[in-house]
Amino acid sequence: VRRPFELRSVLRAVAPGGLTLLLAAGSLAVIGPGLVSHSRHFGGSGKTTLLAQPAPPSQKRRTELPGLEFVHPLEGPVHISGSFGEYRKFSRYHHGLDYKTFNRNGLTVRTPLAGVVERVHVSKRGYGNGLFLLSPGGIRTTYGHLNDFLCPGTAGTPRSELEDLRRAIEFLTYGRGVFIKIPPWFRFQSGECIARSGESGSGAPHLHFEVQKNGRYIDPLFLRGMEIPDTTAPTMLSLYIEDARGVQRLPVRLRPVSTDSPSPGSVPSAPPEQSDQSTSDARRELRPVRSYYALEPDARLEWQPGKWVRYMVGGYDTMAARNRNGVQTLALSVGGRQSFRHELDAILHRDLARSGRVYHTARTVIGREYVYLLYDGSRNPGFPHRGDEPIRVILGDASGNEAVFEGVLPAGPGAIQEETANSDEGRPRAKLQTVFAGRGANLEQISARGAMKIRFEPRSLHEDARAGLSVGEALSSAARKSVRIPPPRQSRPGISAAAPEANQRTQESPVFQLEGPVFRLEGRDLFYRNGARAEAWFQTESAEAAGTVALYMFNETVGRWLLVAYPYREADGRAYYRFPFRYEGSLAQLRDLSPPRILQPSLWAPPTLYNENKNEIVREFMVIDRGSGFSRANTQVLLDGRPMPFQWIPDRATLQVRLPPALIPGRGVLLSIRAADHSGNRSPWLFDFIAAPSR
Ligand SMILES: [Zn+2]
Repeated sequence: VRRPFELRSVLRAVAPGGLTLLLAAGSLAVIGPGLVSHSRHFGGSGKTTLLAQPAPPSQKRRTELPGLEFVHPLEGPVHISGSFGEYRKFSRYHHGLDYKTFNRNGLTVRTPLAGVVERVHVSKRGYGNGLFLLSPGGIRTTYGHLNDFLCPGTAGTPRSELEDLRRAIEFLTYGRGVFIKIPPWFRFQSGECIARSGESGSGAPHLHFEVQKNGRYIDPLFLRGMEIPDTTAPTMLSLYIEDARGVQRLPVRLRPVSTDSPSPGSVPSAPPEQSDQSTSDARRELRPVRSYYALEPDARLEWQPGKWVRYMVGGYDTMAARNRNGVQTLALSVGGRQSFRHELDAILHRDLARSGRVYHTARTVIGREYVYLLYDGSRNPGFPHRGDEPIRVILGDASGNEAVFEGVLPAGPGAIQEETANSDEGRPRAKLQTVFAGRGANLEQISARGAMKIRFEPRSLHEDARAGLSVGEALSSAARKSVRIPPPRQSRPGISAAAPEANQRTQESPVFQLEGPVFRLEGRDLFYRNGARAEAWFQTESAEAAGTVALYMFNETVGRWLLVAYPYREADGRAYYRFPFRYEGSLAQLRDLSPPRILQPSLWAPPTLYNENKNEIVREFMVIDRGSGFSRANTQVLLDGRPMPFQWIPDRATLQVRLPPALIPGRGVLLSIRAADHSGNRSPWLFDFIAAPSR
């Protein structure tokens, strides 16, 4: 900080609870109990000297903002948990990078460029504690979810005034949150510590980082010095084909067939006379990897070639952290001609809420499978396709690695009938009606055992769409696999429930029991902007279901049941639901039958972890639950038989117990854990013996 923060006037604010805040001449005095709510921070790595290895550029690599040299805002090996251009709900893009901090707070955040703090964000939501830095040339960088604006060794020094300002703002706004422009009081050099990472705002601990110039957000991975070595090609999972009649309802699954990885011989090794290791490393060319995909052998295609055909592709990319992120490049060629190419390396400010033009919002499941349109915007009719021409689809990442599908897509009316006969038995097709983006529409279905209403309000969708809701008894064969279906009810002849033998065919024990009818929302061009609102009630079939049911959707993209909502009211054998909705697929009320599982920490983590100051032993247990999800309230954690407080970290599905070593007697202690889900299923007790630490 080059200039001290001066605030000559004295501000006096009386906060709720009678707290008095005085802010005078840069010094902050707070009178009152329990004032500054520090979030936890430990494991700070200010001393870490490991640096991200810069990736040698591949042949086609571009550099944004050439002539400038950047550094990653976190020191140490770089792990990305959220990539640039990724789909976020409500049709938004993620327009920065998320740096993983592995559940640690308090890591040093440094500035990649010299600059002055332009804006400060102080809130319990969104960016949380965020800083916006303006650098020469109009480049703006953003740092989100910070723990505080302190740096190691700066507490109580003039450099802590940025943190004093943050606390003052927090008190003056009663924690309601502000985003304010401040005078140029705080200047930073390139690579200087500006704050500490945290988990303020939203989500698990991580650092959110953005780069913007002239209203154009840039993928930081394209800045010099911020490349990340990545030799894993994206993964391609499925294709969707849309002929004149609409989208093929089930994705066409793909399988990997081969990979062109740079063989050891193909990497140019340094000539013998160059003995300097760093020089040879820098000169080694990191060749992009290409993986090839083909149709699954039993893929059934439900389409007819015609004048115009539209394609979509599902997949994801991983970088060092193994999180499933969005990809960077999309390309399609039909019959050898390039038809479509889109790069997600920069996004204009005015397009931030228009990711529905690149992603299929009703089929994308964040963090699992991203479904991309291989045409430009929802109004585009697609591309001519005679049917016998091969298509080539490419998903690429920022390092130039690619997943490639190449092939001819067989088609014909026979394929459609086969599909119908095999997996669509008893499923009513909805009559599609037009949903006008500007006017909306209501879809409603009522049966004796349940009802559902989906309201598309004005501006729910990007464009006009077609959608229909049906009600029936049957599930698709994929959806049926994990569901026990009660036998057909005698009182309702003529309605055939899904064949019970379908369950016996699969050897896995059912995760769910179906409780009520199945609703199915089908759509064409269903590109959500805000999502629809829905209400439903379901009758429950079994007496023991009360208090244990929830509403789920079978997402055909990922082939799984996803939790949609818990009932807000249950009475007289009925459960009532209200929920926002932004998918297509089957909706059913299910009862979760499977208990959660606790993984022994020794299987995946060091048995004893200390925090930074070694004054707490940290034990972590991963809890896996299929179905209704971990319930904190029903879970029991005991230390030598007495209840013990614990943390639940939802993003990592981890239960965490922190023990002061002083609490552990010489004979050690027994930690007992029994995890529960929202439907009341309980895991067996897990016992974990903790020996007294050697002193
Ligand atoms: Zn982020």
